[in-house]
Amino acid sequence: MHNKTLAELAAGLARKEFSSRELTQHFLDRIQRFDGELNSFVTVCAAQALQQADAADAMRTAGNASALTGVPFAQKDIFCTQGVKTACGSKMLDNFIAPYNAAVIEKFNAAGAVMLGKTNMDEFAMGSSNETSFYGPVKNPWDKTKVPGGSSGGSAAAVAARLAPAATGTDTGGSIRQPAALCNLTGLKPTYGRVSRWGMIAFASSLDQAGPMAQTAEDAALMLNAMSGHDARDSTSIVHPVPDYTATLGASIAGLRIGLPKQYFGEGLDAGVAKIIAAAISELEKLGATVVDIDLPASDLAVPAYYVIAPAECSSNLSRFDGVRFGHRCDNPKDLTDLYKRSRAEGFGAEVKRRIMVGTYALSAGYYDAYYLQAQKVRRLIKSDFERAFEKCDVIAGPTSPSVAFGLGEKQANPIAMYLSDIYTIATNLAGLPGMSLPAGFEKNLPVGLQLIGNYWSEARLLNVAHRYQQVTDWHRRVPAEFA
Ligand code: GLN
Repeated sequence: MHNKTLAELAAGLARKEFSSRELTQHFLDRIQRFDGELNSFVTVCAAQALQQADAADAMRTAGNASALTGVPFAQKDIFCTQGVKTACGSKMLDNFIAPYNAAVIEKFNAAGAVMLGKTNMDEFAMGSSNETSFYGPVKNPWDKTKVPGGSSGGSAAAVAARLAPAATGTDTGGSIRQPAALCNLTGLKPTYGRVSRWGMIAFASSLDQAGPMAQTAEDAALMLNAMSGHDARDSTSIVHPVPDYTATLGASIAGLRIGLPKQYFGEGLDAGVAKIIAAAISELEKLGATVVDIDLPASDLAVPAYYVIAPAECSSNLSRFDGVRFGHRCDNPKDLTDLYKRSRAEGFGAEVKRRIMVGTYALSAGYYDAYYLQAQKVRRLIKSDFERAFEKCDVIAGPTSPSVAFGLGEKQANPIAMYLSDIYTIATNLAGLPGMSLPAGFEKNLPVGLQLIGNYWSEARLLNVAHRYQQVTDWHRRVPAEFA
């Protein structure tokens, strides 16, 4: 049962081959059996999940079921979940029980989906390896000495080990796509404004976007159908029609122009990964696509600009965690300043502190023009690069990550090396474009992800290209032997 895709499970539920209760119990049992070692969940909601499953079975009997009704999901612990601990990977929120549901959670609930639990993640979504989590690192199911990627590492590992059929993630600079690549999943970061950020704990608000992490493009499309749409409670949510993302999955890609940015195939890209990406692109050519070379000259500036803008926004967003209103509070404060200082010193981990300091510095009078304003100008250049590129091509393709999963601990002492894990994914967030990663092969027995980047609102096209590719390949069907 656990090797079925979300679409297959939905079909099985519709045919009454199994109930949602049976399905939910099956995944809860797998979590119980395997997650002690993987550490992909921080909270398992067994009792609530079974209640939701019964409600979903009743919904189906009453004839009110939709595609997600009764299907169990794992939710990243960045989404507020009413009555359930929502810690965002941080000691700061270790005691936080959200009083309301995030918009994304409301949508899953309205669809009758079941929440198995909340997944581990880098602290406040800052990281590329899931090693900054207060709850400890997550292991990659493909090789337990390797990282699953981050920040949505728990979601990625849970789906890769088939402890959940699919999960949600969030992506500020690559956190859906990079762990999807490192764990052999299909993950999609939508256009900025497609999915409501309401109730999703903010890291860098102008970059954050939630999206699906699933086995297939079809599953991602089913989830995006449910997750998308305007929400007046998020001022950056955009009024834009939500198509049925499954409707065009099978469309021909003959004549599709795929842009290959030379900057995504240069120095720093692992040779084995490069070969697999080249093979994946020829597969798309066999399906009728043509390839054009494109230039994204500001690519080199994406990581530096991001590491000014994201910390600047995080320093502002995280100022709310002051020991008074939310989260951790130190014992016996001497006075108010001591309360702020010690609560924040105790509640935040090293990476989060590093970002708050960098961001506060970049925003301070005297440095604002030199750093923050400059980074915003670079952001504009990056956006213009993409605008020019999309005059020549429909979709951009390249690697998601420069290498396969690296060792646990390997990059922890070197933040710059860690930051470079997102060298191919970050520009997409700076421009607000949709991007996805899909399984494209294995290098040294570890998964490699193909990244597709589209123009604004082209999610349906990206999913279509990914689906056609998945019809002629079976990388996405592979499961680590231990979890098969
Ligand atoms: N790895 C990047 C960072 O640490 C991106 C994280 C994310 O997308 N949330 O900021």
